[in-house]
Amino acid sequence: MTEPDTRLAVLLPLPLAGAYDYAAPAGLMVRPGQYVRVPLGNRYLEGVVWDSPPGSVALTKLKPIQAVLDLPPMAEAARRFIDWVAAYTLSPPGAVLKMALSVQEALEPPKRQAAYRWAEGAEVKPTPARKRIQELLADGLARPVSEIAVGAGVGAGAVRDLVKLGALTQAPQAPPRLFHAPDWGRPGPTLSPDQQAVAAELRQAEGYSVTLLDGVTGSGKTEVYFEAVAAALQKGRQVLVLLPEIALSAQWLERFKARFGVAPAVWHSEVTPARRRDTWRAVAEGQARLVVGARSALFLPLAELGLIIVDEEHDQAFKQEEGVIYHARDMAVVRAHLGGIPCILASATPSLETAANARQGRYKHVHLPSRHGSAELPDVKRIDMRKFPPQRHAWLSEPLVRAVDETLKAGEQSLLFLNRRGYAPLTLCRSCGYRFQCPNCTAWMVEHRSQHKLVCHHCGHTLPPPDACPSCGEKETLVALGPGVERLAEEAVARFPDARIEVMASDLMESPRAITELVGRMERHEIDILIGTQMVAKGHHFPQLTLVGVVDADLGLAGGDLRASEKTFQLLWQVAGRAGRALKKGRVLVQTWQPEHPVMAALSHGDVERFLEAEAEERRKAGMPPFGRLAGLIVSSPDPATTSRYAQALASAAPRQEGVEVLGPAPAPLALLRGRHRARLLVKTAFGIKMQTYLRRWLGAVPCPKQARIQVDVDPVSFY
Ligand code: ADP
Ligand code: ZN
Repeated sequence: MTEPDTRLAVLLPLPLAGAYDYAAPAGLMVRPGQYVRVPLGNRYLEGVVWDSPPGSVALTKLKPIQAVLDLPPMAEAARRFIDWVAAYTLSPPGAVLKMALSVQEALEPPKRQAAYRWAEGAEVKPTPARKRIQELLADGLARPVSEIAVGAGVGAGAVRDLVKLGALTQAPQAPPRLFHAPDWGRPGPTLSPDQQAVAAELRQAEGYSVTLLDGVTGSGKTEVYFEAVAAALQKGRQVLVLLPEIALSAQWLERFKARFGVAPAVWHSEVTPARRRDTWRAVAEGQARLVVGARSALFLPLAELGLIIVDEEHDQAFKQEEGVIYHARDMAVVRAHLGGIPCILASATPSLETAANARQGRYKHVHLPSRHGSAELPDVKRIDMRKFPPQRHAWLSEPLVRAVDETLKAGEQSLLFLNRRGYAPLTLCRSCGYRFQCPNCTAWMVEHRSQHKLVCHHCGHTLPPPDACPSCGEKETLVALGPGVERLAEEAVARFPDARIEVMASDLMESPRAITELVGRMERHEIDILIGTQMVAKGHHFPQLTLVGVVDADLGLAGGDLRASEKTFQLLWQVAGRAGRALKKGRVLVQTWQPEHPVMAALSHGDVERFLEAEAEERRKAGMPPFGRLAGLIVSSPDPATTSRYAQALASAAPRQEGVEVLGPAPAPLALLRGRHRARLLVKTAFGIKMQTYLRRWLGAVPCPKQARIQVDVDPVSFY
């Protein structure tokens, strides 16, 4: 006899191996995708009805679900996506679901306050307060007590009295509409013929496709993909635009608003919990049509998703390095595939992966050849620091100083770029050689002079500024080595005493508002020289900025990891793109000790394509991604012996297989991080080998010791 069809598999947002079975009350139709509340142990938990095959526990032994929540079901494509991400990253599906249910409170309908309106024909003794209340409510709208009190300028007591007297009656209040429909019909700017051709191609995409949209900064990529956004909105679909978190500037959101008449729904780590709850629910209910967010927005319940755009697709910020380790750009492509919808990857410096996919025809490729209008690309020149070494404790070479001077005289703005926060990256005792190191990490303590402390940039450990060497006790022997932006600002102030100088770095900006204000001062030309970290590299548009000086172009090459060149090129090209974006031509001076390095050469020739090809050739020879696959295994534990034993055990248990190479274990570059000792193994596979199958077989055979942890990083982008 078959059992009645009321067995449900429910996936819970917990790191469990799979869905759990529950029973649905007879007669209740519960469909896959519906959000339900179920008992687990001695509590209740919200989960999603999954479509996994039912387990074998007898139906009579299953606990019944407690409630079906009042929400549209999670779309089939979104469910398949969760399964897919889990399988790809070797994570439990529930851990991925947890990212999709990141705002537990959003699953409940928002509590509505009781609202009141003036009861028809009500007669009460008139007082000034009552008259004001009656006037306020003359529009017939129902309002909560607090709102009536504020609106009429009376105490809440006066309002409640009227409720008691029956002059105010309770009435249903329409839920406030928080997200208004974007107006896709508003005209954008008149596109150039090149832009028009690209926009037409993007607009007409139907079904699954991936298109690389490349073109220099300022070529109009954003304007062009806005056209695709408008087309998808017109078809009644939801649209998701992913951006690196720091590129989600107020300036950028303003542009969005200008184009579509309303602000998009925004999703990133700074959004307040209350706003997150409203946003999640508005997305699930289909009220929010246009979502702009950082990588985690990919897991929002977008039931009618019709287009995904990944802007700055090359950016490393799309990689989540903790918990479920995934790359949002790659997963966006997967989501588009599962949903049968188009995906656009936009960048001025495409990643090697994306460029290779485009070259091999897996992705479509559209290109905007030049800057919009009369804006020209800046000239990029290398400054050979061997020929122009700066003075002691100074970092600006003579040619760069001269250029800043000229720019000041011309009444234009300069940007000095140094990708290092703080005052100095290392403090050392001249007498005994002691160096201030973080006790929890393999890292130096970075001096932040303006905040009077030393900080570890990895774990946040802080120390007060020392007045004597903790090792030899000598006073006045401590020296700061190397520059951070704060120190560079000191030098700039000394060099250009009349210039208005400001620093932009994430630790100095207390709030998104502070950033907006700084950007505003820069736009209004209240700043002559802006000194900044990578925060300044993205998204901003400063019409009077005509000089960009890269203070230490070699900085990112030092680590020497697989992607050092690619990342450095992308970052510096992005920074260079800040110069001369309006009428005046810009110039870029790059200070480097290795001007013949391929990255520096490519920068000065402005040749993205050539750089990508040369870099791809290197990778191809080495069988490295995108011409082979990698997975990193990071083993860690508070105890160094446990770490090395586990790492060794893993290495010796690695199954031998043709086309698979296991490297390591080796101490990780950050051998100690937040108090955990770390070792790394690297798996390299040739094409055609299923990385996940191999990893599952291997890792399943070696038990993880207590206290130890293993993180699997498929397609790693950093190697720390
Ligand atoms: P990208 O995204 O490639 O950096 P944007 O789309 O931001 O380029 O365009 C750069 C600047 O030029 C923006 O201020 C944009 O509004 C403007 N722009 C681009 N195309 C046009 C156009 N066809 N008409 C008017 N302004 C344009
Ligand atoms: Zn630390």
